[in-house]
Amino acid sequence: MIFKVPRGTQDILPSETWKWQQVEKVILEACDVYRYKEIRTPIFEQTELFQRLVGDTTDIVQKEMYTFTDKGDRSMTLRPEGTAPVVRSFVEHKMFGYPDQPVKLFYTGPMFRYERQQAGRYRQFVQFGAEAIGSADPAIDAEVISLALDVYKRVGLTKLKLVINSLGDKECRAAHKEALVSHFNPHIDQFCPDCQTRLEKNPLRILDCKVDSGNPLIASAPSLADYLNEESASYFESVKSFLEDAGIDYEVDPNLVRGLDYYNHTAFEIMSTSEGFGAITTLCGGGRYNGLAEEIGGPSAPGIGFAMSIERLLLAMEAESKIFADEPTLDVYIITLGETARRPGFKLLNELRAAGIRTDLDYMDRKLKAQMKSADRLQARMVVIIGEDEVTEGAVQLKIMADGTQEKVPVGELVEKIIKNTTR
Ligand code: ATP
Ligand code: MG
Repeated sequence: MIFKVPRGTQDILPSETWKWQQVEKVILEACDVYRYKEIRTPIFEQTELFQRLVGDTTDIVQKEMYTFTDKGDRSMTLRPEGTAPVVRSFVEHKMFGYPDQPVKLFYTGPMFRYERQQAGRYRQFVQFGAEAIGSADPAIDAEVISLALDVYKRVGLTKLKLVINSLGDKECRAAHKEALVSHFNPHIDQFCPDCQTRLEKNPLRILDCKVDSGNPLIASAPSLADYLNEESASYFESVKSFLEDAGIDYEVDPNLVRGLDYYNHTAFEIMSTSEGFGAITTLCGGGRYNGLAEEIGGPSAPGIGFAMSIERLLLAMEAESKIFADEPTLDVYIITLGETARRPGFKLLNELRAAGIRTDLDYMDRKLKAQMKSADRLQARMVVIIGEDEVTEGAVQLKIMADGTQEKVPVGELVEKIIKNTTR
């Protein structure tokens, strides 16, 4: 029997993990500067949490969730996104009572969605997301957007486009919904079965349909922009001014509707404009979700956040030919000759490692020439050679690979000498 990774998932091999670690480092640095603290929630939650918070009419809940019944007969779901768990945790741990508000959190971890696999679309993928909960200040919208953009900039991406829209509040959404229903209703039989259900439940989602995106009725649909009440319009204007103050360029797209039900006011996406990026250009999506905490019995706690996948960030880097500096190579390779040198060699290995020097030695009982080849292949900066003579003399041969020079060094002086030759 041959086993393979499940469809839509991938093994990230040592040749790739370096890149992931570098991205994770950049994320930690950016969040540190912006003062977002890490939160780690479980990989699975009660199914109802996502049904309630992500919304019954979304693709995620309708088609994409990995749901199972556990041995206690409870319906559980592998988390498809991070906002619902974070808001659950915010309410459960009464973070609304923390003296410092808003509560600024970030997470990085695997998400699971049963989707058709294609480039940049996996069934298990890693999202980095940030949430600021507890403030309705439009400046925090700009801050959250700025954090997302900053992460991309820190990995070297330049071909980025920020698109924003306002989804308004409950009141304007209701008026707009009515207009949408009367717009689509007479022609709804032209649309896919999903859209036919959406018409009643959440007609806004028709604008976001991947099947019917070419239908001219979508382009001619009533725009939310025309239904924004004064308060929503002025909130949107403030967000735009704060973005300008932060030196962030944006485009307004009145048709930008995010896939999740819970958004209101600010919605945004960051796209890659790099030619090499392929069909899926969205790198990051986010928005404001006032009222979400109340949905699960919490107090009123307005929030805003975003999520981006590391997979798409790495694809964008590839499309822009941005690469990370090489992984550090070996400092010292220890070559031992003959049985008597084995234990002194192993002892030295441990001493060098204790001094923080990247050190390795041969475990395959190979001859001098083969060990030398390994040292080359591993790009060792130095080689320490221990033979029988060296063991009796209490010294070793130290070879500097860059210039090929070799000298005998007493064991007692070795660490100091090696540290001098190790640039960090
Ligand atoms: P899409 O329209 O591409 O399906 P979405 O609206 O479902 O995106 P969100 O739920 O907003 O996406 O997720 C935010 C980000 O997470 C996306 O912009 C993308 O970077 C990433 N993402 C979403 N789904 C996947 C996936 N299946 N594989 C890899 N990354 C993903
Ligand atoms: Mg999706």
